This record gives sequence, structure tokens and C-alpha cells, in this order.
Amino acid sequence: TPRVFSGIKPSGGLTLGNYLGAIKRFVDMQGEMETIYCVVDMHAITVWQDPADLKHATRELAAAYLAAGIDPTRSTLFNQSQVAAHAELGWIFNCVARVGWMNRMTQFKDKAGKNREKVSLGLYAYPSLMAADILIYHATHVPVGEDQKQHVELTRDIAAKFNTDYGVPDFFPQPEPIIEGPATRVMNLRDGTKKMSKSGESDMERINMTDDADTIAKKIRKARTDPDPLPDTVKGLDDRPEARNLVEIYAALSDSTPDAVLGEFAGAQFGQFKPKLADLAVAKLEPISTRMADLMQDPAEIDRILTMGADKARAIADPILDRTYDIVGFVRPR
Ligand code: ATP
Ligand code: MG
Repeated sequence: TPRVFSGIKPSGGLTLGNYLGAIKRFVDMQGEMETIYCVVDMHAITVWQDPADLKHATRELAAAYLAAGIDPTRSTLFNQSQVAAHAELGWIFNCVARVGWMNRMTQFKDKAGKNREKVSLGLYAYPSLMAADILIYHATHVPVGEDQKQHVELTRDIAAKFNTDYGVPDFFPQPEPIIEGPATRVMNLRDGTKKMSKSGESDMERINMTDDADTIAKKIRKARTDPDPLPDTVKGLDDRPEARNLVEIYAALSDSTPDAVLGEFAGAQFGQFKPKLADLAVAKLEPISTRMADLMQDPAEIDRILTMGADKARAIADPILDRTYDIVGFVRPR
């Protein structure tokens, strides 16, 4: 049976990239398939997180899921560290995945930069834990942004190697990455060659889900662009990464397509287009951030929702872990 799994790290405030590339699409998949959505706190600590900030970011991310429309009775919503099976299967996968596979991961290269010897071992092994996150539920579909495609492909390789090594051909499924829509890679507002990230250096390069209307308008006004007017077809966006990015954001926020957006704005200058984009972004984000703030008034209630979700998650994950341990040859309790 089709089953969706995806996660987001509580590693800072959420961005418009997280919303368009992940959360908004998670909401759309509810009801179509069984959906499991996770706050991946164990991934967050692959880089240093202040403990109090991590708790806050975990609840705030849960609030964002809820405010955007994730229904905890229709989806399973929880934080990763409450379901020990993720870490347990992650260890098995550390013994299945090869060092050479990890060395090819571009996200590790980006995040480690010149500092390869000084980053945590967890940052290096991250994709193997991510494979466990997905496969501990035998999930078949993984909605993610473009930047996570390589990790989902690695997950498929790990599943295949486990199945072959242990002679269990169909035990772990081959999950499909679902990377769809006009905003699968929202770019940094100051540099159209880099993706927008919640952990990026400057706040001006991203729109946060909790930014107020004035801040959103200011960031869009100051977003880098070229001097030309908008073209009349998407072909005209080639070699114009900043222009393409703003058009794609507009399309995603309005549930439209870049072609349709250009149909409306062809020939417009950015001076005309940017205020329209800012109005649209505020109209879409403000109701969500207002609900988030309301939910954050009662953190105990958020914690209860996550606990309930973790119970549901364990009910799926624990029997799969038990079978995995048996396959591996671990003696099980009688
Ligand atoms: P960090 O900088 O800490 O890695 P992040 O913004 O990349 O934060 P993640 O928690 O790593 O966020 O990713 C959560 C989800 O959001 C993933 O599915 C990822 O592909 C998606 N995502 C992240 N950034 C973007 C973006 N700029 N455009 C579209 N999707 C994105
Ligand atoms: Mg990321």
C-alpha cells in the first residue's frame, strides 16, 4: 500500500522554501495516501543546536505543520527522537551503506565546506539515518525539495543492498522521491545560484514563515534581480536565475504555473511585479503565521499531539524493526 513519509529539521525558523517545497505539498497529499510527517530533531543535532532553542524550534515546526493544514488525526505527526526505531535501523544501515557512497553526497560537501575534519560524524552519516526514517515505515513515496533527491536515491541503494545481502528480495521497498510543482528549489533572494535555507547566514536572503508583512515586503523589494522586464515565455527566463526564482515563487503561491504568471506579467518591470509578489506572499503566509502564534501559546498541547503521533508511528515501526533484527540474526526476546 502506498505510504508517504517526509521530515523537516527543527534547525531554525522555517523558510518559504520549506513551505513551498515541503509543507504545502505534504498538506496536499493528505487524504490521497497514508501520510507520516516528522520533525527530525535527531538530524538537527548533526550541527550544534542550543538545547532550549531546539525545543522551541521543534514545537514551532510542529505548529507550522498544524497551522498549514496537517491534521494529526489524518496524518501521523511526531518528532523523530520519540521513536527509537529510527536510530536503531539507522545503525543497521550504517553497516549496510558504504563509505564511498557517503563521499558522493553533495549536501555533505556543501555543509562541511573546507572544514571536513571538524564536522560531526553524524553529519557524515546523516543520509543513512534518513534512509532509516523512510524505510522503518516501508514508505513508498517521499515528497521533498530538489536538494534531497540524492538522499532518496541513496535510500533506494541502501534498501536494495540490504535486501540482496540478506536474501530478502522484497523486504524494503524502493521509495520514490516526489519532486513536483513550480518551486521544488526556491533560491536565495540575494544569490540566485544558491538555495534558500533556514540555516543560511543572512536573514535578508530568505523569507521566514513568521516574518511580518513589512519584513516580507522589504525582503522582496531588496531581492536581487536583473534590469530587464519579465519575458513572455519561460524560455526567456533561461540564464536569469533571480527572475526565474521570483516567477516560480509567484506561481507556487498562486497554485498556478510560471507560464500563466508570465501570461499576466509579460513586459512588466520588477518595480511593478515585486509589490504584487509581496502582497501574494503576505496573503498566503500571514494566516499561517497567525495560527502558528496561537498554537505556540499552548506548548503542552503541541507536546501532547507529538506524543500521540509517536504512539501511532511506533505501532508501524516497531514490528518492522523486529523483523529486521531477526533477518540480521539478532537473538530476539521470547
Ligand atoms: P538547513 O539549512 O538546516 O538544511 P533547510 O531549509 O534546507 O534547512 P531541511 O530541514 O533541510 O531545511 O529540509 C526540509 C524540507 O524542505 C526538505 O524536503 C527540503 O528538500 C525542503 N527544502 C529546503 N529548502 C528548500 C528550498 N529552498 N526550496 C524547496 N524545498 C526546500
Ligand atoms: Mg537542508
